[in-house]
Amino acid sequence: MAYRVPFNRPFIAGKELFHIAQAVTNGQIAADGPFTERCSRFMEERFEIQRVLMTPSCTAALEMAASLAELGPGDEVILPSYTFVSTANAVARLGAKPVFVDIRPDTMNIDETRIEAAIGERTKMIMVVHYAGVGCEMDVICELAEARNLCLVEDAAQGVNAYYKGRALGSIGHLGTYSFHETKNYICGEGGALCINDPDLTQRAEIIRDKGTNRQRFLRGQVDKYTWVDVGSSHVPSEISSAFLWGQFENLEVITARRQSIYERYLAGLGDLEEAELLRLPRIPKECRQNYHMFYVLLPDQARRDHLMRALAEDEILAVFHYVPLHTSPMGESFGYKEGDLPVTEDQSARILRLPFYFDLSQEDQNFVIERIHEHVRGSR
Ligand SMILES: *Cc1c(COP(=O)(O)O)cnc(C)c1O
Repeated sequence: MAYRVPFNRPFIAGKELFHIAQAVTNGQIAADGPFTERCSRFMEERFEIQRVLMTPSCTAALEMAASLAELGPGDEVILPSYTFVSTANAVARLGAKPVFVDIRPDTMNIDETRIEAAIGERTKMIMVVHYAGVGCEMDVICELAEARNLCLVEDAAQGVNAYYKGRALGSIGHLGTYSFHETKNYICGEGGALCINDPDLTQRAEIIRDKGTNRQRFLRGQVDKYTWVDVGSSHVPSEISSAFLWGQFENLEVITARRQSIYERYLAGLGDLEEAELLRLPRIPKECRQNYHMFYVLLPDQARRDHLMRALAEDEILAVFHYVPLHTSPMGESFGYKEGDLPVTEDQSARILRLPFYFDLSQEDQNFVIERIHEHVRGSR
C-alpha cells in the first residue's frame, strides 16, 4: 500500500550525488578513500572523539565493540531489552549472555538505578542505548562501570549530534556506535561508525575492521608489508556510501534545524491532547540536548494505541511501533526470560506509536497527521 504520508523517506540535502560521481572519477570506490577519511575526521573534530572508524552499519560497529571487549562464553553483558536486535545480537553471537535491565518511564532509556543490582561476578560490559537521541544518565553509569572495571559501550545509533551535559553521545563510554541507515538523522542508505574513546583499543579496532590484517599501519608507512595478525572481518564501507554521507555532513545544521521544526510542530500541535491526558509526549531531561531523531506518543493502553495506528493507516498515514521487547522474543526466552520480567518495558512498548518524521515532510502533510490524530483520539474517548 502506498501511503500519502509514509513513515520515513530518504532525502538529498545537498551535493550527495555529485560527490558519488566524484568518487568514481577519483578512481576509488572501495573503502577508505578521501570521502571516508573526511567523514571520520569531521566526527572526530565535531564530536570530540579520539578516533572514528567508518563501518558498513551500526550493527557492524556493535559487533566490533563486542570483539574488542573480548566477550566469550560465560561472560554477561548488561543492556536494555527495549532496543534493536543488533545491540543484543553483538553479545550473543560471541556466546556471552545478555542481562536485560528495565527502562525509565520518562526517556525509555535504561534505568540507571537498576543497573547495580544486575552486576555480578561474570559481568564484563554495559551497553547503553540512547533512545530517540536522548542521552542516558551517563554520570551514574560511568561511575558504575569504572567502579567495577567494566567496558562501557554506547549504542548511539539514534544519537548522532546529540549531547549529554555538553558531551556528544558516543564520545563518553570506552566505545560508541553510530548509524547512518536511511531511517536515521544523517543517512547514506546503510552505514555506521565505531567511536573509540579509549586509545588502547584503536590499533586492534583497525585490525578487526580490516580482515584481521595490519593494513592500516602499512598504509601509514608504519610497517613495510601487511599481513594476517588477528581474527577480523570486513567492516569497511564503500567509498560511494561515504561520498553520499559527506553531502549530508556538509548540511548537518540544515538537516538538524529542519528536524527541530518538525519536532516542535508536533509538540505544539499535540500539546492539548497531553493536557487532556489522552496521550503522553516525549520528555527530555534538562542535561540532554537531543537531535530530534524521533517523535512518539504514548497512548493510555495498547487497545487505544492499536486503534490509532489502524485509523491512521486508513487515512494513508503510516505510524509504527517498535520494539518487541528482546526478553520476550524467542531468543530472549532461550536465555531464560519471560513475560512479566521487565514491567516498564512491556507496558510502554505496547503503548508507543511513532509518527511520520523525515526531512521532506511538508507542513501540509504534517498538519494532516496532527488533525487526524485529534479526530481519532478524541473520537475514541
Ligand atoms: C538503527 C539501530 C541499530 C542498527 O543500525 P544499522 O546501521 O541498521 O545496523 C542499532 N541500534 C539501535 C538502537 C538502532 O536504532
